[in-house]
Amino acid sequence: MTSFKLPLLQNREAALETCAYCPKLCRASCPVADVESSETLTPWGKMGLAWYQARGSLELNSSYAATAWGCSSCFACREHCDHRNPVAETLLDARAEAFVRGLEPPRARSVAKAEPKRRERREASLAALADHPAVDPHAKSALLLGCAYSNQEPDLCRAALDVMLRIHGPVRLLSGCCGAVSRAAGDAETAQREERGLLGAAQGAEQVIVLDPGCAGAGRQEGLRAAGALTLIELVAQRLDLLERLNDMPYPTRWHDPCQLGRGLGVYEAPRAVLTRILGEAPEEFARSREEAVCSGAGGLLPVTMPDASGRIAAARIADHEEAGGGAIVTGCASSLRRFRKSGAEALDIVALIARSLAAGDG
Ligand code: SF4
Ligand code: SF4
Repeated sequence: MTSFKLPLLQNREAALETCAYCPKLCRASCPVADVESSETLTPWGKMGLAWYQARGSLELNSSYAATAWGCSSCFACREHCDHRNPVAETLLDARAEAFVRGLEPPRARSVAKAEPKRRERREASLAALADHPAVDPHAKSALLLGCAYSNQEPDLCRAALDVMLRIHGPVRLLSGCCGAVSRAAGDAETAQREERGLLGAAQGAEQVIVLDPGCAGAGRQEGLRAAGALTLIELVAQRLDLLERLNDMPYPTRWHDPCQLGRGLGVYEAPRAVLTRILGEAPEEFARSREEAVCSGAGGLLPVTMPDASGRIAAARIADHEEAGGGAIVTGCASSLRRFRKSGAEALDIVALIARSLAAGDG
């Protein structure tokens, strides 16, 4: 048996070995390796480095460790892998190994250190939403907005609550965090504490609804999904009859599958069914969509740790959009939304469209 030097990677031995002995069938699927033109940053390269470090055959240093942050957690490699190897999840564990040894990139360290500020901001944002008529602290259903929405998109949070009121009923707001940001930074201990706290807060809820698909159950946040949590998009797809067509939509309107909703949760049809009602016709598609969709560059903390690569990935996706006819991009992930907007695209969040469509039914 191999002697592993990095205990957090012990459970990933099989995954690491599978990549290390593989002919790299997923090579072309990685958006980070693609824009960086780097063999080291292919899934095989990153997993190989983690494997050598885990076995102690390569010294542990910040330069090798940094490669684990060269991943947007997009799961694209898994779709191209005969073994469906969990590369994104394994690299998150590799980040955790580096973090406990102080070898994480300084920008990742800053993100980890900012956890108390994120929590403070989240609590203030949720307090500011308490006056919304959909919010009832004693409601049987609970809504998790997710930090990417609660801390930066107050209007979209209100839109989500408008949607709740019209299709579901009152909800209590979950104040916890799924831990995804801390985990992406490498701070697994804080991430586990956050995740446990959130699962505890969700206990007793008859239904948990999640706005940000990244919080719902991809990767390591199995708990919330396993407890029956639904994304807001899936919930709305159960009440298509309530959606009215919007006559002022930009044309064409193209759906971008967020990695965490699509490959992460396997939800592809629900957003298309919802948009078909709102647009009066099926949304336009990217040349690469569903399982083959290309990442926006917004995941895995890439905009913080590798901002240039993140920007180039977004630019490539926007170029695909323009080539397919341009128009507006609709997505269902606050991080992708901001990434596309920052890169100059006209981008819309599906929750805002759903809220408007439901309100149109009142008129
Ligand atoms: S993810 Fe799969 S295809 Fe890619 S290098 Fe690893 S084992 Fe090979
Ligand atoms: S999950 Fe995405 S970014 Fe990460 S190694 Fe795989 S393809 Fe590359």
